[in-house]
Amino acid sequence: MAGAFPCKGGSIYTIYGSNPAEMAGKLLEAGRVIDAIPPGAHISLKPNLVVGRAASGGATTHPEVLAGIIEYLFAHGRKNVDIIEGSWVGDDTVRAFRVSGMEELGRRYGIKLYDLKDDSSTPVDTPAGKIRVCNRALAADFLLSLPVLKGHCQTRMTCALKNMKGCIPDGEKRRFHREGLDELIAALATALVPHLTMVDGICGDLDFEEGGNPVTANRMLMGADPVKLDSHVCSLMGISPLQVGYIPLAERYGVGETGIMAGDIVELNRPLAVDMPRPSGKVQGLVKNVKADRACSACYANLVHALRRTGAGKSRAIHIGQGWRGGRIQGFGVGDCCRGAEKCVSGCPPTALDIVEALGG
Ligand code: SF4
Repeated sequence: MAGAFPCKGGSIYTIYGSNPAEMAGKLLEAGRVIDAIPPGAHISLKPNLVVGRAASGGATTHPEVLAGIIEYLFAHGRKNVDIIEGSWVGDDTVRAFRVSGMEELGRRYGIKLYDLKDDSSTPVDTPAGKIRVCNRALAADFLLSLPVLKGHCQTRMTCALKNMKGCIPDGEKRRFHREGLDELIAALATALVPHLTMVDGICGDLDFEEGGNPVTANRMLMGADPVKLDSHVCSLMGISPLQVGYIPLAERYGVGETGIMAGDIVELNRPLAVDMPRPSGKVQGLVKNVKADRACSACYANLVHALRRTGAGKSRAIHIGQGWRGGRIQGFGVGDCCRGAEKCVSGCPPTALDIVEALGG
């Protein structure tokens, strides 16, 4: 295991700018992170590559963030570095590595990339029972989580805590959605705690985890407490942390603290304008009539894409999710779980195009 992170427990280091590599290096220097990483330590970088998209779309981590980190680590003689990720169910991590620029980054620095969908896993005890966690993530001497500051169509926001969901097998990801996302994300945080989290807040999509409407915010954050980071990101986005179920739960499980104390936010620079843009609320408006009950991310995201095309959710109730399985549903259903609906678009998940056609778009 790495040594204690040298930053004061709850500090959140913040830097503003538009050069992610330089900003990442400055954050690491300011936090004296190298003091926490013994020579020879095995360091795993865990970006957010939930889908195969370039970072400019607002869904995935900028490869330059990783470039800045790798340059810093190499300069300090820490060369045992790899990149780990497992995209969401229904997407191909290897394709995401390629499209996001991580594959090229790996070639440039001679670093290996590992698709956690191919990894073995170990059941770990948590307050919500055993959760299987990928062994490569568990084995890292220093796990550096690199989420994107962005919105989420179901949980409102996604950042530090939820980024660890990429370190569990696909079967567990499905189970999370089936049995309750909030409790299991919070429980996972007790089983797999990154040593450090650096947040890419350059241009995340503040409404939708799959991106498409990036919003320039030009900032990066770094801290050791993922609960505090998520709580702070909520306040930046104008959301109460209490509206994001897994954040207070993770605090209850002892993962970290939601309270931001005076002096917790350490700004390394201060441009003239630092106002954080807010979510547009467009996605929340589109899904206001969606009756979701334990819907998988890819299924729900395809529905959001379809609603963007058709606007159909404004005038009719649409059902989606594993909670509807086996029941009779009055109205429209999305996916095989909603076969009991009067009208259902089949698939697991159905494509956005199928949903558009079924909605009559
Ligand atoms: S139909 Fe949709 S919600 Fe149901 S299991 Fe398949 S992907 Fe998940």
